[in-house]
Amino acid sequence: MRVYISVDMEGVSGVTRWQDVITTGQDYQRARSWMTADVNAAVAGARAAGASDFVVEENHGVEMLCNLVLDEIDEAVEVVRGQPRGGATTAAALDSSCDALMLVGHHAKVGDYPGVCAHTISYGDYQDVRLHGRSVSEGEIFATIAAQAGVPTVLIAGDDVVGAEMQKVCPGIEVATVKRALSRTSAAIIPPARAQGLIAAAAERAINRLRAGEIIAPDFTSPFAFEVQLRKPLSSEARAVIGERFREFSILDDRTVAFEHAEMAVAYRMAAITQFLARQPHDIRSY
Ligand SMILES: [Zn+2]
Repeated sequence: MRVYISVDMEGVSGVTRWQDVITTGQDYQRARSWMTADVNAAVAGARAAGASDFVVEENHGVEMLCNLVLDEIDEAVEVVRGQPRGGATTAAALDSSCDALMLVGHHAKVGDYPGVCAHTISYGDYQDVRLHGRSVSEGEIFATIAAQAGVPTVLIAGDDVVGAEMQKVCPGIEVATVKRALSRTSAAIIPPARAQGLIAAAAERAINRLRAGEIIAPDFTSPFAFEVQLRKPLSSEARAVIGERFREFSILDDRTVAFEHAEMAVAYRMAAITQFLARQPHDIRSY
């Protein structure tokens, strides 16, 4: 059994605030070890239930998506890190050969108070990201990419807010709640070692329940119609560049860009690119 693990950092055990997950933060180096230990816990739990093959994909957008401590990670895994990753921004090696997706260290969507470090794709630039007219989380986007490959999402490890979000969109998903969110920058934390015990137990249950047919991939409606609402109005330069060169994007109002695509992996990439279109429209060639 092949398990694909996407790991972000904001929902990792012990992490409480944005400064914990950026290079200059006091606890960033410690948080890298917590992140690695959370992954190891998911691997150990899945292995206890019989999984043997593990791909871990780094999806925290700091240091070019290289945050795990490779000297500390379980020897059985293959790690996807760095960027760019060919045609895909994320879930780059996820395909129908995988049996399950696990989300470790993921975080709540923008505006879902009190989610720790809650945001969707861009921490600073996006007010909201909507799919078919309603707010969507990164976790739901990942689960949908996996669902298009026929792969169910079986585990979410993070704070209580992202756990509740994912239970709504992935019926039957196992949840490891490693902290209770108090605000975007505070949480009631349990020691990472104890949290990692919860992750291992949830991962083991997840694989056992997957085998029993109790967790299936969520439904989706394609093509995926997105709207990205920016915090700041688009500059006239950005409006001109989008209108002339990026006609797959349309401008709905002074802060909202819309697009659609039949593949969620591509739609996600378009949602990620929107921040650069807004910020540095003439540098977009580099993305
Ligand atoms: Zn992140």
